[in-house]
Amino acid sequence: MGERSPFRLVILDRDGTINEDRDDYVKSADEWVPIPGALEAIAKLHQAGWHVVVATNQSGLGRGLFDMVTLNEMHLKMNALLAPLGGRVDAVFFCPHAPEDGCRCRKPLPGLFESIRERFSLDEMSAVPAVGDTLRDLLACRAVGCQPHLVRTGKAARLDEAGVQALRDQVPGLTVHASLATFADALLGAERKKHSDARAEGKRLASGGAPH
Ligand SMILES: [Zn+2]
Repeated sequence: MGERSPFRLVILDRDGTINEDRDDYVKSADEWVPIPGALEAIAKLHQAGWHVVVATNQSGLGRGLFDMVTLNEMHLKMNALLAPLGGRVDAVFFCPHAPEDGCRCRKPLPGLFESIRERFSLDEMSAVPAVGDTLRDLLACRAVGCQPHLVRTGKAARLDEAGVQALRDQVPGLTVHASLATFADALLGAERKKHSDARAEGKRLASGGAPH
């Protein structure tokens, strides 16, 4: 294969996107419960060559609801559940601050996404899809030029059509999916189509076909 495959990166929100959200915060590994199909979706992305990273507000740390040890336990559980599925999350970028801390990493501010851009040495992020269930996630994504994807799980499961339309109005280029599972299928399906179109074009050129 002469073609160099591009660096594929996808950024996922955590609570409400990968695992079930809770109004009283996910405070322990026991409370970290995957949304049906979400881990399988991450495994598919990983196996297709996508680097999967998480960007998550964890103000429960700043509020003293749990500590770093517990946060690490949640992420160990996530990766332990992913491993038998053939999946992995490459890195978790989190904001540990409470809103009143005035940090730059709490979404909708772009600090976490900027850290990801630096970590992976990306000049720009227009080829990077980012997935979340809230306006905050989508605004942080747009602030660095990523592709915004809403999943209708977590907080977005409660939105009616008018609520979704309001998000579309505030987030240019928004794509809406039922869940992380359907997001992954759409992303990988679009990628397969691009490759088969490119192969068909290659064959047409090789056979000396006239351009349409
Ligand atoms: Zn922060």
